Amino acid sequence: MTEYETSCLGKTRFLTRQDARRRARQIRREGGPHFRSYPCRFCDLFHVGNLPGHASHLRTTPHGVYHLKDLNP
Ligand SMILES: [Zn+2]
Repeated sequence: MTEYETSCLGKTRFLTRQDARRRARQIRREGGPHFRSYPCRFCDLFHVGNLPGHASHLRTTPHGVYHLKDLNP
């Protein structure tokens, strides 16, 4: 796995750090892992996550995720 694959590819992208932090708090409230938000140097947006390779939770949340393409059709 490259750093790009573990820290960016397939992860939810947030336009602002505030959005990413809000999502991280929501996941935590739902009993998920304690994610943190971080700026991505590959796409220049923000993601939430913890350790590389542990991002699968983001794709399986019952409340879904939103992607950049949804915000900018
Ligand atoms: Zn990224």
